[in-house]
Amino acid sequence: MSDPMSDQPRNNPFWSPAVAQLHPYVPGEQPKTTARLIKLNTNESPYPPSPKAQAVLTQDGLARHLRLYPDPESTELCATIAAQFDLKPEQVFVGNGSDEVLAHAFYSFFKRPEPLLFPDITYSFYPVYCQFYEIEARTLPLRNDFSIEVEDFAIEGAGGVILPNPNAPTGRYLPLADIEKLLRLHPSRVVVIDEAYIDFGGESAVALINRYPNLLVTHTLSKSHALAGLRLGYAMGQAHLIEALNRAKNSFNSYPIDGIAQKVATAAIADREWLADNCAKVIATREWTCAELAELGFDIVPSTANFIFAKPPKVSAEALFLALRERNIIVRYFNKPRISEYLRISIGTDEEMGALVAACREIL
Ligand code: PMP
Repeated sequence: MSDPMSDQPRNNPFWSPAVAQLHPYVPGEQPKTTARLIKLNTNESPYPPSPKAQAVLTQDGLARHLRLYPDPESTELCATIAAQFDLKPEQVFVGNGSDEVLAHAFYSFFKRPEPLLFPDITYSFYPVYCQFYEIEARTLPLRNDFSIEVEDFAIEGAGGVILPNPNAPTGRYLPLADIEKLLRLHPSRVVVIDEAYIDFGGESAVALINRYPNLLVTHTLSKSHALAGLRLGYAMGQAHLIEALNRAKNSFNSYPIDGIAQKVATAAIADREWLADNCAKVIATREWTCAELAELGFDIVPSTANFIFAKPPKVSAEALFLALRERNIIVRYFNKPRISEYLRISIGTDEEMGALVAACREIL
């Protein structure tokens, strides 16, 4: 059988020419068993989700609700998200993971003749959506220290801008003043700020929404809320942008969020105290890990995320990746220009990061 993850265009008489040409996104490895593994490769939370979210799943009669279709508008969930961010429910859109939200955003705002702007080193799903929706991509190189220079995005005739803040896989954060500059550079095009990792120390651009009709901010429950398995992401923006996303969604799948996910996500979002505690723990472990790895001679990019991007001393990133893998520690290695000497390491528990540091010390 052919490898379904292979990136090579292939021919099959049953396939449409379009699907034969696709270069699908390749997610980080999800091993079938995590029993003996320290899994630091896909930026999940090392801790279980809020007990209030977990409690929903043990409620009596939960399964009975599955007889009916779920609320297609996720009304209660949108209202809960809106209340957390001081927005109106019509300023919120939910999707099956922020990947789905992003896919609808690409279709709704960026499918135009002009090129979409994003950094050369960024979330690798963006070029995949560009190909899927036939959107021209124009990538702008990050500076040598992996920082984003907003002036580089001052390009006339762009179809829109998207970037993660903090950026992935670098973890570098762009201050809100720079996001505002970006919004003013492209007042008649949508700027999507993908805030998948914002809860780990950054300041959200949500506060700018009511002043900028071109701003869309996306969040996920996969990282700081420890609910990657639930598949829940959301977008926030002025109502006219949310209406566009709903038009796209209702032309594709009217029921993307199952009824149980709506309930669990509503409970998770409402539990702000748990969120703050969880992020504080991850941030403390991140700072400890950075200090330890710096002492071993790693070159570490300043991180505001739940992962770090670091270049090992003495050995290549690939060699260290393989040596860690042999010790049952999985991190992420990208064999790509400019970043092939770095590893992206998700923040695990203190114990897991202790084991990582000890393994690095031994290998180096
Ligand atoms: N944006 C960025 C920058 C990410 O790293 C990820 C996780 N791979 C996502 C969005 C998608 O997250 P999810 O679909 O789990 O919400």
